[in-house]
Formats: sequence, structure tokens, C-alpha cells
Amino acid sequence: MKTQLLKVNEDSIALGAKLIREGELVGFPTETVYGLGANALDAEAVVKIFEAKGRPQDNPLITHVSCVEEIPPLVRAIPAAAKKLMEAFWPGPMTLILPKADCIPNAVSAGLDTVGIRLPSNADARALIRAAGRPIAAPSANRSGRPSPTTALHVLEDMDGRIPLILDGGACQVGVESSVIDATGDVPVILRPGGITPEMVERVLGHVRVDEHVMSPLREGDVARSPGMKYKHYAPKADMVIVDGSSDAVVSKINALVHQKQENGQKVAVIATEESGPSYHADVILSMGSRSNEDAIAQHLYKILRECDELHVDAIYSESFQTPRIGQAIMNRLLKAAGHTVIHCD
Ligand code: AMP
Ligand code: MG
Repeated sequence: MKTQLLKVNEDSIALGAKLIREGELVGFPTETVYGLGANALDAEAVVKIFEAKGRPQDNPLITHVSCVEEIPPLVRAIPAAAKKLMEAFWPGPMTLILPKADCIPNAVSAGLDTVGIRLPSNADARALIRAAGRPIAAPSANRSGRPSPTTALHVLEDMDGRIPLILDGGACQVGVESSVIDATGDVPVILRPGGITPEMVERVLGHVRVDEHVMSPLREGDVARSPGMKYKHYAPKADMVIVDGSSDAVVSKINALVHQKQENGQKVAVIATEESGPSYHADVILSMGSRSNEDAIAQHLYKILRECDELHVDAIYSESFQTPRIGQAIMNRLLKAAGHTVIHCD
């Protein structure tokens, strides 16, 4: 199959909408990461998403809508807490888990009785959904196990020859996936951290829970409330270790570890910041941007993990990024990339 890469405009959106209606897949921009979309009400189209990504069948997809009026037919109920969250944070980087209606195929919900719904703020994403006239089921547009794509070229790297069309709307503003919030019970539970933080939810509802597996790995016998928790996403090919502690201690520790690896003939990358980058003696130093600009850190994260693969490094050491707002989302992705290997030093 030939893959077309087209800049977003009226014509390319119309073509994308036609492909979606015909049961084909389209790569498209959202404010979080690029999505791989199909008609959410067409089970056969949805199956193609799992094939193109190599995604495990038991990992459900998020269904995207262009306005709240499109939601009632897709769900059995919208609890009061969910309504408040919608008013506060939509359109935006938040997915709400709600009880699903029968029209949502099991392929979308991976057999669960619930469905994840999101109203993106990205105008191109909403234009595509509106023009298609159907809700669009879309996971991130990467091959399973690869970092999520934050540019159209990342989508092309992973999906060339597998899908007919990628819409290029430029780099994603947020850069990490949406917050996933289970809104089916009395107290909402954050299943995946993202741009909407626990503090923001608490301010609206007065309470929130964060699932324990957001920052710690699942152990044998644990049940994943969100199937995506089970998978080691976002993993670069090289072994990755996070080093946490005071900034001076981290620089010394990472430099010592880099030295050891280099003695053994290995090529090493360090993930650092503008401020700390010059202090390292590694083969490659990748900067997440200024430590004071947490939005930029989130935007650069996946591009940098992709670069680690392209540079064919053997080992990666990363500073830790506990920034105030989107820091939990950044660390959740970094911890997964590192398989939860963290060295603490003072
Ligand atoms: P992706 O679209 O690739 O970012 O993945 C979607 C994420 O949302 C995965 O981690 C899923 O496990 C989660 N998700 C989607 N639908 C549900 C649902 N009904 N219940 C719990 N988690 C869900
Ligand atoms: Mg994904």
C-alpha cells in the first residue's frame, strides 16, 4: 500500500474523512500525540488498527468525538462527576472511561463493559471527526512498543506502507498522551497521568485517586485496571537507567557510569537539560530543553527516545524530571522506557 503524507487543509481533511467512512485508517494530529484513526462504529475497520500497530487485542482504544453532543449514543450513562470534568477540561488532553453502549464494538473496548472517550482540543482532529460524521477510534500512531509519534514524520517512520494517509498538522503541543480517568465510580481514578493532573481534578471535584500502578510496576498477580498498564511501552532498544538525586550527585554518578560503559567499548547517551548537558562526558547528550520549561520537556520526550534508537547507542542514562505540573506524566513514560530501573544518589 502507498502511504500519502499530506499537509492538513480542506482537501486533505475531506480525503481523510472519506477514507474513514470507507473503513480505512488515517494518521492524524491531536494536541497530545498523533493518532491512528478508524471509524469507531465499524468493527472491521477497527481490527485494521490492531494489525497496523501490532497491538495486543486486549488493549482497548480511545474513541474521539468532535463535540459533547456526540457522546450520549456511545455510552449508557454520564455520571455527575464525569460531567464536571468534561466542563472543566474538554476540549483537551483527558480521556474519560464511561459505561459503553452496545454500538461500540468489542474490538474497540477489548471486551470491557466500558469505553474511553476523548474530545481533543486540536482543531484539525476535530475537523476530521466532524467531516467523517463518525466517532474515531484512535490509539497512538506508532508500532506497538515504539515511542508515541509527535510529528507526522514519526508516523511515517512506523506506518509507511501500512496505511493510506497521514495528515501532517505539525508537532504536537502537549507531547504525551492524555490523562485516562475512570469516571464510572463515585471517586474518579487516574489510570494514566497526562496533561490533566491529580491536583487539577481535585480542584474540580474535591477528591481523586491515582491508581497505584501509575508510578510503580505491575507485579505478578496484580490486576491492571487499564490494560495498557501491562505493556512496556515506549521502550528504546538500548538499556535505559534513570538516575535520581541532587543535581551535583546525579552528574557525578552518571559520568562515572558512562565512563565504565565506555571502557567496555560501549556507546552511551545521556538525557539531560540545557543547563546540565555541558557537564556530561558521553558520546551523545540529548537535551530535553530548559529544566524550568516543563511543557518543552514533555514536547521533547518521545522525539528524544526515538533518537536514542536512531543513534544506535548501547546504554542510556537519564536525569529524572519531577516537574510540578506535567512531571508525573513525564516520569510515568520515562519509568516505563527504563523498565523502572532507577538509581538514587545524594
Ligand atoms: P493509546 O491510545 O495507545 O494511548 O492507549 C489507550 C490507553 O487507554 C491504554 O492504556 C488503555 O489501556 C486505556 N484505555 C482505553 N479504554 C479503556 C477502558 N475502557 N478502560 C480502561 N482503560 C482504557
Ligand atoms: Mg499508545
